This record gives sequence, C-alpha cells and structure tokens, in this order.
Amino acid sequence: MNSRLSRPERRALQRQDEVFLPQPLHMGTDPRSIAAHIRYVVHALRSPSAKSPSSEAVAHVLALHDRTVPKQAEKLLACRKGCSHCCSQMVVITAPEAFYVAAQIRNKPEMAAAVQEIARQTATLTLDERLGRNIFCPMLTDAICSIYATRPLGCRGFVSTNLDACIAAFVRGETPNIPMPNDSISVLYACRMLLLASLRLAGLKDGVYEMNSAIAIALSAKDAEAQWLAGADLFAGLQSTPPPPPQFESSIRQMMAFVAPTI
Ligand code: SF4
Repeated sequence: MNSRLSRPERRALQRQDEVFLPQPLHMGTDPRSIAAHIRYVVHALRSPSAKSPSSEAVAHVLALHDRTVPKQAEKLLACRKGCSHCCSQMVVITAPEAFYVAAQIRNKPEMAAAVQEIARQTATLTLDERLGRNIFCPMLTDAICSIYATRPLGCRGFVSTNLDACIAAFVRGETPNIPMPNDSISVLYACRMLLLASLRLAGLKDGVYEMNSAIAIALSAKDAEAQWLAGADLFAGLQSTPPPPPQFESSIRQMMAFVAPTI
C-alpha cells in the first residue's frame, strides 16, 4: 500500500476488501468489488515470498471467474466432459497464465515437448494464419483437458449452447458462429480486463499471446517467471494480439485510475 493513504484509511480499505474478495465479482456499477480484486492480484504479482506470484494471481482470477458465472448461464451450456471440438482452435493467454500452465506441465515431459513442438511448427505464422489452423491442444488426453482445473481464462470463457454449431465450425470448417450466454461473455471480459489492469498497475507487460508459444517460453528456463517479473521481456519475440477495442481500453483505464491511488 502507498503512503497516500493514512493508516486508518488502509485498515478501512482492507476490511472492505475482505468483504468483497470471497464473493463473486459484482458486475454492476459499484467499483469496490473489482477494485478489491485488482488490489489482490497486483499484490500477488508483486509478492516476493510467493513461490510463483503468477500462479497465485492467475488462480485468484480463475476462481473469481468460475464463481461469478451465473448458474442459470451454466445450465444453458452444451459443453460436456469429453467434448473437445473447440480445443483445436487457437487459444490466447497472458504471460502469467503461461507461467501457471507451465508449472502444471513442467513435470510431464511428453506434454511439455508437444507444446514446444507446436510452438516450433507455428513460429513463423502470423496470428491470422495460426487462427486458420486447427491444431488439437497438447493438453488434451483422450478428449479430456488434463489441466481442466487450471485451464486458462480463454478456455474457461469459451462455451457454447449448441453442439451442432461447434461441430459445424471445428469439424466441418464452417465460419464459426458459436452461441454463448451473454452472462458468460460479460464475466469473461470483466475478468480479462481485471487481469490486464492488474498487470499494468504492477508494472508488467500486458501482452496476450498464442498459448503454445507462450507456454514454450515459460518452460524454456526454470527461472523464466522470475526473469519476467524482474522486467525481462521474454515474450518480445511473439506476436501479441491487437490491443483491446476502445470501449474495453476505456474500462481498463477507468479501473486503473480508481485503484492506482490505493496501491
Ligand atoms: S488447455 Fe484444456 S480447455 Fe484449453 S484448449 Fe487445451 S485442452 Fe482445451
């Protein structure tokens, strides 16, 4: 916390955050909920004592996402265990998510090697070209995600209410037109913006990269995460997705302006 807040103000803010942190993200106009989570994620990313600050930060955002998606939206989903058509499309992730997944698969040599091989094979593709390639995710085992509990935000947020639409897009190669509940989309966007705002407030790069290429870099050295947290731009050689659209960028900046004086 910064000295711009007095000690009583800091204590009051901590008490306020303790109320909001275990709850689902408030999706209305009250900014105190999202501010509490941004403060938590920034502090996690800056925590010198954590074994993996990225993992702590990302695990918090993923759990927040899951408890915020309304149950009525989940009931609409056609997604089922063993249905993995969408796991052949390109997934994009932030650097902390890459370190989080790398930590899950570092001790699974075949899976780690498969990730690195896909990264090598697709290294020269533009993101648009990569988007056009359907490549099954190396984390899939017998059509089941082997890192399901820790899968990235993009995987969590990509859901469908219509299996036929998924088959048309991912099996027959038709133009994707996947119906998703509006609530699921809103929660995904809110959590993505929360994570980007937190990264910027922590003074870290907020790039979003193709998943296998980013994980391959996270796997490339045991201290890759420590290097990145210390300011090394390990992902500089990867293409980042285009910046957020203006309305999202504006929301991210509003979040940052609200929270910055309290960090
Ligand atoms: S990480 Fe899991 S959910 Fe995401 S694409 Fe890979 S197998 Fe599918």
